[in-house]
Amino acid sequence: MADMTDNKKVENVIIIGGGPAGYTAALYTARANLEPLVFEGFQWGGQLQNTTDVENYPGYPEGIMGPEMMSQFRAQAERFGTRFVTDDVDRVELSDGGLQKVFLGDEEHRAKTVILAMGAEPKRLGIPGERELGGRGVSTCGVCDGAFFKDQPVIVVGGGDSAMEDSIFISKYASKLTIVNRRDEFRASKIMFDRASEKDNIDLKTPYVPEEFVAGEDGKLATIRVRHAETGETEEIAAGGAFVAIGHIPKSEIVKGQVETDEDGYIVTEPGSTRTNLAGVLAVGDVVDHTYRQAVTAAGTGCMGALDAERYLRDSPPPVEAHWMPGGEPVEIAPSSWRSGPTGAGGASC
Ligand code: NAP
Repeated sequence: MADMTDNKKVENVIIIGGGPAGYTAALYTARANLEPLVFEGFQWGGQLQNTTDVENYPGYPEGIMGPEMMSQFRAQAERFGTRFVTDDVDRVELSDGGLQKVFLGDEEHRAKTVILAMGAEPKRLGIPGERELGGRGVSTCGVCDGAFFKDQPVIVVGGGDSAMEDSIFISKYASKLTIVNRRDEFRASKIMFDRASEKDNIDLKTPYVPEEFVAGEDGKLATIRVRHAETGETEEIAAGGAFVAIGHIPKSEIVKGQVETDEDGYIVTEPGSTRTNLAGVLAVGDVVDHTYRQAVTAAGTGCMGALDAERYLRDSPPPVEAHWMPGGEPVEIAPSSWRSGPTGAGGASC
């Protein structure tokens, strides 16, 4: 209770995350005069910070480098007054319709709404060459980078739907594509597996475990050393490109146990909206998205999150702790009227 009686500023909206979703939410809330505060992370820019050419974001007919695109997203949000904290949030205290609290160490920041946009990260194999050859043959995004390997042999690692989807896409460009899976059985759905294995230029190599991505003299990926999971025999496969498609991990650790997540850790939102199970807490981008995981879809949900925040702020009385009489006494407001959702004031109204 002690922290409620000080005179700390209460932000309209705090955004956690500095990728396409977070910056788009910042742009929209800044243009709505909500003066957003963005905790963009120490390594701001999200997954695009680790990519090279982006050729599939509309509006850049010549393509653009991922980090440059993120700088532009950030600058556009800044132009309308967004404030940035280039650091990683240590913890949050989320509330259902009350004040949302975000902590950097002992430093507490309060807001009426929070937009969670922490993103996801691709799972890595953790083998030599994987990081070193990132952007020089080794990738985690088939849709982003598949077209760079036209008429070259390519390897896709993984046996789930992501690996199948990437393989089907990349096989349009590659001369030959080999799916390397650590088991003879595939985790992918039958339909995705059938579609991939029916392609003339796709081969399956099982049960093999990748051991190392090896560079050629030009410093780019040349071969992948794989080991037979049962016999232990190793061999090298030539490839210009290798795609690691073994799943993603949503970066939802800081909200775990506070907001509803599914069994894989993705934050659950109401269908067709960015509302979570907590009023005033919205979630956007890859920390929600199992399926699409594109910069453009993340940006789209960032916009939705901003509009949902704006509606929530417009239609809900501020949390009682944010409302203080000059003498320091809180103004009592009935909590039942704060809820968002289909029947709440912040829900369907627009
Ligand atoms: P996933 O289903 O968890 O599959 C991961 C694959 O990577 C599995 O084959 C797994 O092998 C393998 N793997 C994991 N760690 C590995 C390691 N260290 N070394 C070698 N292989 C490793 O992940 P996902 O394919 O990204 O799919 C995630 C979810 O999104 C699923 O529900 C999927 O259906 C959905 N999804 C749907 C679509 C679509 O419908 N269009 C597209 C993409 C994803 P094991 O099987 O041996 O564990």
